Amino acid sequence: MSIVVIGSANADLVIEVDRRPAGGETLIGSDLVITPGGKGANQAVAAGLLGADVAFVGCVGADGNGDLLRRSLESAGVRTAGMATADRPTGCALIVVTPDGENSIVVSPGANGRVTPDLMAEHEAEWSRAFIVVMQHEVPLETVTYMAAQCRERGVRFVLNAAPAADVPGDVLAACDPLVVNETEAALVVGVPADAAEPAELGRQLLDRGARSVVITLGAQGSLAVLPDGTVVTHPAERVTAVDTTGAGDAFVGAMAAALASGQNIEHALALGTRVAAVAVQRRGAQASYPRRDEL
Ligand code: ADP
Repeated sequence: MSIVVIGSANADLVIEVDRRPAGGETLIGSDLVITPGGKGANQAVAAGLLGADVAFVGCVGADGNGDLLRRSLESAGVRTAGMATADRPTGCALIVVTPDGENSIVVSPGANGRVTPDLMAEHEAEWSRAFIVVMQHEVPLETVTYMAAQCRERGVRFVLNAAPAADVPGDVLAACDPLVVNETEAALVVGVPADAAEPAELGRQLLDRGARSVVITLGAQGSLAVLPDGTVVTHPAERVTAVDTTGAGDAFVGAMAAALASGQNIEHALALGTRVAAVAVQRRGAQASYPRRDEL
């Protein structure tokens, strides 16, 4: 069954540093590495490498970074007929990675800003027959709202990874099956300070607010799901040495979508997401770190 990922495509400009710079400070880092990224493209590539039937709908600029993204998606087996070219630069993420594998990121959306409801209407043939539509918050919120409504109307399963952290309107939440968030994003959507509630409690509150199901990722602590009947299922992370967590959450979401599209339930989707994310954190880059099915 097919997956359509609608979202961002960014060039990741990565520099390794000993520590994060403070305000007004200049640090010297490693050589610059440019790799394909963006939450939408990452999730599409993660699912494509696992052998899922995936199409990507998004927008890049007419520049070298756009070509880099297109090549990465296509070499993962992702269909790109729904990828438009805009008169704005390809989206870009400036990433600094510290020796503990943590990263700090600034995103310039560029062409991702052209992923509008109009573009969705233009590419309706791409997503209207999908089994699952997967979105994130790196494209305009009005597009997420539009697609949530379209998916509800047409009975297409809608998966929203509400990252980067932003509020999720009630009508969008009601379409999510599941809403996938990390702990920070979960607290923001519920409207409480981070650490104010246990993750399982946040998940239950998101279900109360209308999400059909919820998945919360907890970094090295693993993940949990709140099923439609309120049951909480937890899954530990694998014990591995992380060298670069860039795109770990996206690897998790893409792999989850691949599992759901092959008819598996949310528990099995958590297991595959965990396996794939564990491989991703042990290698550098976002898409460059994702495993093929035969590597698992
Ligand atoms: P995000 O990057 O979106 O905040 P998380 O940090 O929660 O997402 O990571 C997503 C998933 O990646 C986790 O649920 C876990 O399975 C895996 N993961 C993240 N960090 C590690 C780690 N240090 N060791 C093993 N697995 C990890």
